[in-house]
Amino acid sequence: MDNTEDNTKDNTKMPSAIQSAGMHSIAVIGTGYVGLVTGACLSDFGLHVVCADIDPVKIEKLRKGEIPIYEPGLDVIVERNAYYKRLSFTSDVEAAVREASVIFIAVGTPPAADGSADLKYVEAAARTIARSLHDDTYRVIVNKSTVPVGTGAQVKKWIQDELKKNSRNVNHEENREFDIVSNPEFLREGSAVYDFTHPDRIVIGYDSPRALEMMKQVYRVLYLNDTPFVETGIETAEMIKYASNSFLAVKITFINEIANLCEKLGANVQDVARAMGKDGRIGPKFLHAGPGYGGSCFPKDTRALADLARKAEVSLSIVESAIAANERQKLLMAEKISTRLGSLQNKTLAVLGLAFKPNTDDMREAPALTILTELARHGARFRVYDPAAMDEAQWRLKDIAGSITLCSDEYHAIQGADALLILTEWNQFRNLDLARVKTELKSGLFFDLRNIYKKEFVEKSGLTYIGVGV
Ligand code: NAD
Repeated sequence: MDNTEDNTKDNTKMPSAIQSAGMHSIAVIGTGYVGLVTGACLSDFGLHVVCADIDPVKIEKLRKGEIPIYEPGLDVIVERNAYYKRLSFTSDVEAAVREASVIFIAVGTPPAADGSADLKYVEAAARTIARSLHDDTYRVIVNKSTVPVGTGAQVKKWIQDELKKNSRNVNHEENREFDIVSNPEFLREGSAVYDFTHPDRIVIGYDSPRALEMMKQVYRVLYLNDTPFVETGIETAEMIKYASNSFLAVKITFINEIANLCEKLGANVQDVARAMGKDGRIGPKFLHAGPGYGGSCFPKDTRALADLARKAEVSLSIVESAIAANERQKLLMAEKISTRLGSLQNKTLAVLGLAFKPNTDDMREAPALTILTELARHGARFRVYDPAAMDEAQWRLKDIAGSITLCSDEYHAIQGADALLILTEWNQFRNLDLARVKTELKSGLFFDLRNIYKKEFVEKSGLTYIGVGV
């Protein structure tokens, strides 16, 4: 048993510092990847948290101790804190807000058709919060969703508007009953619990010292652990999140384009990236060539930032180019496969990995969606397997369902296939029995779009290796 567990065992009361800050409990609105991890981890810090969601099925599962998403380590934290009654779940969002002094908004901000962030869930959450403010308790409303610069101010307006409808006086500065804080989240799916509890930094955008004090109390455990805190304005905090994600997306795109050039010129992108990464000014992370970035954040956040820049009439050409290059990269992968296989009619690919990255079931904007759809358009069929995303795959790939056979593991997937296609770098795909793969694959083509194998190693088994930029 580690110290963390010891600290949380006997503690069903608020830490005294929190009580003196006048904090009763925390409500988290939205119980998805970010909201559930936030709620669970804050309860593990000894705080009382109610997680609320409009999806009653999700809440019912959580109440029964089932975790609706695949996120390693989250189940233990949820179970422990639910047991000690620090963590509870409700679909009555208004009730959760009523009891809370700090209210996190962690709802989705999906892309609208024009690339801008669709704020309808944030607006709905803000208006629900306003309808729940039945007393004069001071509250901090924290935006954890990734939102365009200016949303903090907009959330305030939505709340004031809704409060006015209920004829409450919120215009008088001294009568302010709430403050808005921007506290963007940087966790990565697959290591979300670790990331939340060991962040590189906590960003707090605020315009009221009282709100800042409350936020420091919420994150007291991390504050004491010397986590760097960036205290700044609300707009700046909002921009930090978009700028960070867009920078990482650009970095990935850069190495993908270098990989494409390496392939043409006979260089090896793995060695290029390794040598580049040793340069302290560059760093080794996000320099892995592959089929293009995906997931719930980079695609939508780059598009939302580009949209913000266009509206502000500021050129953001690097981000715009990365968005276009990333779309090209996915199509290039499909082209590469079909060129090697010749006609795709009646060809079957064994597909290992569908999630946008390992250790998650999330397939939002996963490269698999574009690549398989494109290949299916030319007649390819697929035997697919992913350790976590099989349920999600059934509806995300419903338009090409007729071309897909769902398999129970990697060896089931290769049965009778023409070629192998690795799309997600799950650890269990790193040690395939290559002799068995060779026996099954009719063409012997081994497409490793995550570069998790060495070409020479695979080719020793008589297979033909095709990576990205190697
Ligand atoms: P998600 O889709 O997994 O979860 C959102 C949840 O909000 C859903 O369960 C939905 O039912 C609920 N919801 C929507 N409207 C609601 C309302 N009015 N009241 C209560 N619940 C409501 O989304 P996510 O991946 O957790 O992302 C949430 C936000 O965090 C987004 O802005 C995202 O960009 C950002 N973010 C995500 C990640 C990530 O890795 N997923 C990382 C950092 C930041």
